Amino acid sequence: MIWDNATVMRMLRNESYMGTYVYHKYEQTAVGGGAKKVLDPEKWKRVPNNHPAIISDADFEWVQNRLAQNKKHGFRKPVHPLSRKVECGLCHHNMRHESSGYPKFTCAHMYLDKGNWHERNNIRDKDLEPIVLAAIQKQLDLRVSSAEICEERRQVQQEKVDAAENRLRDMRLSLERLHGDQMEEFEAYKDGTTDKETFLQQKTLYDQLEIKLNEGIQKQTVVVKALDKELDAMP
Ligand SMILES: [Zn+2]
Repeated sequence: MIWDNATVMRMLRNESYMGTYVYHKYEQTAVGGGAKKVLDPEKWKRVPNNHPAIISDADFEWVQNRLAQNKKHGFRKPVHPLSRKVECGLCHHNMRHESSGYPKFTCAHMYLDKGNWHERNNIRDKDLEPIVLAAIQKQLDLRVSSAEICEERRQVQQEKVDAAENRLRDMRLSLERLHGDQMEEFEAYKDGTTDKETFLQQKTLYDQLEIKLNEGIQKQTVVVKALDKELDAMP
């Protein structure tokens, strides 16, 4: 059966669908060479909750347990995974799966309802399964890649927030230093090292600098808040 081929198994075991970013899966076998060796999954590096999960941790674990159990006990005549999901295009009734002969889905309704008779309608598993599989794969890949794009955008925004916060911190440090210098000048004036005229000139200069710095700090605080708000609003 095409359905439980390697592709499906790979999808079922793909941790990125539950939001984990997995890397360091391969190891180079020769220095500078292109040859790679797949590492034991236990050695892979993982970043959990890297992007929004498509399936929950619990569901993922359930699937892993089922896979492990099936390996142990073998399959008990499984219900076809697409059972009750295939609809006849001619009469829109559920198609029934037949596993004998060429496994296929058949519309039995044409035999049951004489008033609604239509041409024989069936589709073989080997024709149906690749179509469904490709559609599911496409959906999952789209969702993983859009989650990864969101995460990249958030990281860029976080860097902007960090840069703006650093600038604000520098401005506050400058203000502290200015206050320290002002105190020193005042001490020098009290000691008589600086005369009154020089002290007053310096004080005017410091006061102007302090006003400018305070204005800058206020503006930068608004910038930081706005960038932070943008980050919070991001998906
Ligand atoms: Zn039908």
